[in-house]
Amino acid sequence: MNTDYNSYPSYDGTDLEMVLDSKGTHFALWSPEASAARVFIYNTGRNGKPVDTLNMVKTDKGVWRVSAPQQLYNKFYTFSVLADGKWLAETPGVWAKAVGINGNRAAIIDMSRTNPEGWENDRGPVLKNYTDAVIYEMHHRDFSVHPSSGIANKGKFLALTENETTNPSGKATGIDHLKELGVTHIHILPSFDYNSVDEANLPANTYNWGYDPVNYNAPEGSYSTNPSDPAVRISEMKQMIKAAHDAGLGVIMDVVYNHTAQNDDSNFSLTAPGYYYRHRPDGSYSDASGCGNETASERQQMRDFIVNSVKYWAKEYHVDGFRFDLMAIHDIATMNRVAEELHAINPNIIIYGEGWTASDSPLPVEQRALKDNAYHIPGVAVFSDDIRDAVKGHYSRAEDQGFATGKAGNEETVKIGIVGAIAHPQVDYSKGNNSTKPYAKSPSQVVNYVSCHDDLCLTDKLAMSMPGSTEAARKRAARLAQTIVFTSQGIPFMFAGEEVFRSKKLVHNSYNRPDSINAIDWTLLDKNADQMDYYRGLIALRKAHSAFRMTDPAMIARNLVFDKTKEDNVISYSLKNHANGDSAEEIKVIFNGNTHPVSVKVPKGKWTIVANDGNINPAGMGTSAGGTLTVPETCALILIR
Ligand code: CA
Repeated sequence: MNTDYNSYPSYDGTDLEMVLDSKGTHFALWSPEASAARVFIYNTGRNGKPVDTLNMVKTDKGVWRVSAPQQLYNKFYTFSVLADGKWLAETPGVWAKAVGINGNRAAIIDMSRTNPEGWENDRGPVLKNYTDAVIYEMHHRDFSVHPSSGIANKGKFLALTENETTNPSGKATGIDHLKELGVTHIHILPSFDYNSVDEANLPANTYNWGYDPVNYNAPEGSYSTNPSDPAVRISEMKQMIKAAHDAGLGVIMDVVYNHTAQNDDSNFSLTAPGYYYRHRPDGSYSDASGCGNETASERQQMRDFIVNSVKYWAKEYHVDGFRFDLMAIHDIATMNRVAEELHAINPNIIIYGEGWTASDSPLPVEQRALKDNAYHIPGVAVFSDDIRDAVKGHYSRAEDQGFATGKAGNEETVKIGIVGAIAHPQVDYSKGNNSTKPYAKSPSQVVNYVSCHDDLCLTDKLAMSMPGSTEAARKRAARLAQTIVFTSQGIPFMFAGEEVFRSKKLVHNSYNRPDSINAIDWTLLDKNADQMDYYRGLIALRKAHSAFRMTDPAMIARNLVFDKTKEDNVISYSLKNHANGDSAEEIKVIFNGNTHPVSVKVPKGKWTIVANDGNINPAGMGTSAGGTLTVPETCALILIR
């Protein structure tokens, strides 16, 4: 086997693996080093013997081809290649767009019949600027599987298509809840076909986040109502996206091209052994993903695969954005091509990712799509671990506190978050806890957050880091933490259920834990109605004031001015000059992370109070003449004039 993978020819045609036309069904498998290749045709998605076997012929650019004279609708197929004298196990290939149960065989279906009514006219939301987005990260099961959701299609794509669902006391759940909350985009955890849930045994109701990819170009079967019918998962995912669009919401897919669930048995390995992965000098799989392998985006066929795959989701499924898992495993050139080609299809598509790897990679640091290399991927945003850890405390050291829970010394790192990680004359990056230089070319390159599906959720992090505290104090800290996120420059992002103060029972990284840990209990809409009201007000405040959503670094450097403060763990700043066309001449934002009140000086004037003492109301909740003001413990004071 030739392991000089860069010498392999590449093929970027759109007819790879299977296309149908009036002349029949045409198979084309890229496998440059195979010495033979064949296609098996089946009547069913699993079990049974092949009804036909087609021997493929090698053509140019490493592509093996064979055609059947019939349109083989409703049949299934697999490939097998002869490599190093051995026939490898059957694989649906890497480009299966429809699959049978558990994704073991590719399916031949009429894709046009999977489109919901009105699909031709379906459009996602228009974003004037990426900083106008408000992202809500959710898992299909977390969101709908709890009995209190009132949703019929629990844990399914279709959950989001149900309107007028409520919890037992009549409060809106499902997509109506999201409309009420005010978010603009739903970020769905992996929804391509993944490995860990047995689609043939759905009554077992097992749970997984889905970061174990099998078929990148077909939806996960366990989120459909019938995984054995290949068209159903496709049609239901499209219905979900259409329902979100009809509600004015965009849908962002979490994509995991950085590794596969399996090594030698993955679809990549079974079609072109070795090629799609990076290796150590001894030939073993390198493992920057921490999951057993890492893919090699710098190789042409892998790069084309990633680019063509996201384009496929954007065009066929009308997806509005992509979140790249462990994005720094990919190289800068790949991410730039992803951004370029997606934005040519739809400039509203948001692209962001984790600007880090799980462990070291053979890919040179300067080529990685790292947070610190974000300047070189201007069309892509990165998560700000700076604001995340500075506000709530370290992500994995559970007891560690942050700015919002009373620990001084994080102020400068919080400020890095507030300015959207751009260069700002008043921010001393050398004092940053994580990054020590500005890394964003523009605020649209930063996703601000304090928690996501990973690690402890915010509620549990606060429980671990505020020993002896009351729940009321922890809810207050959560409000302050999210107020910092939602008033910061950049793109705000929240984890589903934090608006009702959901807990995961102190389980961090709950990727394979049962619904009893992961499901959002929607009776919390009653118990924590005050939290929901606050989040709703907070999002409304951000939407009402374009000064929170500035679009370029010069605008931020000019209009965002920090004040000197006397005490530790207090941050005060103004957004001035009707920044970014804001109706307000000035917005004064003061965060008190201390567990005691502090006094601050605010210029004299006619101020309207929009947030204070753990309450928020964009329409105003009283006035202030400025001067020396008291900011209660653990809260934001926001004034407008
Ligand atoms: Ca699956």
